[in-house]
Amino acid sequence: MTATPIRHGRCLCGAVELIVTGPMREVVACHCKQCRQWTGYYWGATACPDDSLAVTKGEDRIVWYRSSETARRAFCGACGSHLFWKMDGTSQISMSPGLFEDPTGFGIGRHIFCADKGDYYELPEDAEQVAKYT
Ligand SMILES: [Zn+2]
Ligand SMILES: [Zn+2]
Repeated sequence: MTATPIRHGRCLCGAVELIVTGPMREVVACHCKQCRQWTGYYWGATACPDDSLAVTKGEDRIVWYRSSETARRAFCGACGSHLFWKMDGTSQISMSPGLFEDPTGFGIGRHIFCADKGDYYELPEDAEQVAKYT
């Protein structure tokens, strides 16, 4: 039996700390306009089941923003670090891979909403690309 992986994460200022227990998804890079506006570039996110995530510090510092009729985004109210993306009615939560201690071991998977990508960067040539989300 292998030990269940436990990953520790924190925002830039350390006001928010979290632990994820168990497997996490590979990183999906999203090039949609909302993610580009939110992050200033494009956003890559790992994900886990809701009940794998525990916010161990600073729950009250997390600010949720309703970014669409179907999803919300969260950031640290003190330093602005991008934390979570959560679609309504699902039991999975997406989060920034950069929050976690290195090496993260995540790896990158697909690039999505490539049709909406910005003109200020190129996609990696070997990237698995999806025009919209599938
Ligand atoms: Zn912070
Ligand atoms: Zn997006």
